[in-house]
Amino acid sequence: MSKILIIEDEKSISELEKDYLELSGFEVAIEENGTAGLARALSEDFDLFILDVMLPGTDGFEICRQIRESKNTPVIIVSAKKDDLDKIKGLGLGADDYVTKPFSPGELMARVKAHLSRYDRLTGEHAKENDIIEIRGLKIDKTARRVYIDGEERILTTKEFDLLTFLAEHPNHVYSKEELFREIWDMDPWGDIATVTVHIKKIREKIEADSSNPQYIETIWGVGYRFKI
Ligand code: CA
Repeated sequence: MSKILIIEDEKSISELEKDYLELSGFEVAIEENGTAGLARALSEDFDLFILDVMLPGTDGFEICRQIRESKNTPVIIVSAKKDDLDKIKGLGLGADDYVTKPFSPGELMARVKAHLSRYDRLTGEHAKENDIIEIRGLKIDKTARRVYIDGEERILTTKEFDLLTFLAEHPNHVYSKEELFREIWDMDPWGDIATVTVHIKKIREKIEADSSNPQYIETIWGVGYRFKI
C-alpha cells in the first residue's frame, strides 16, 4: 500500500485530502507543523508528499528543497496563492506538480495516482522489464528507442529522442535551456544552447497534432520547458 504524507496546517483541507486518499486505498499521515513534517519526511519512507506552502515552522518551499536533496519521491505542492506557482516554477525546487486552492479532490487524486504510477515505473520491480513510458497518446519505448503517437511510429534523431525521453521522465518539472543542454549535450563540442530550442521545435513537429499549441512539451516563458501530464 502506498504511504502518503500530507504537511498542511489547515485541518479542513488535510482531512478532506486524507478522506479521498484513504477511499482510493492509500495510507495517509498528516503533519501540521512544517518543521516536524520535514523531519518526518526525511526520516520515514513515504511514496508521495503533499505540501502546503504557508506553514508554521519550515515553509513548503524549503521542505521541498530539502526532500529533493536526498529523495526522488514525488512532491505535490498545494498553494493558496497563484503567485506561488511562478515562484515554484522559477526556483526549480524539484516539485513534481502543484495544485492551487481551492482544488477539486478528484483533480488532486488524479495527479497523485499519475505521479505514483510514474514513480513506480521508474523505480519499481517493473522498471527493468518494462522500459516504456506512456503518457496520453504518446508511447516511448526506451529499449528499442522508438516513439509512437496513437500507435503510429514517429522517427526522431538520437538527440531528439534523448531530449523527449528526459522531459517525459520528469513530467511537470520545468528545465531551463541551460539545464537541458547540460543534460543532453554534455561534452558535445558542437552544440550551443540554441540547439535546445531547435530540437524542441523539431520534436513538436513530429509528435504534436498542432505544434503551435503543444500538448506535450510546454514552453514556460522566461524559464524553459516542461513536459505536461
Ligand atoms: Ca497553510
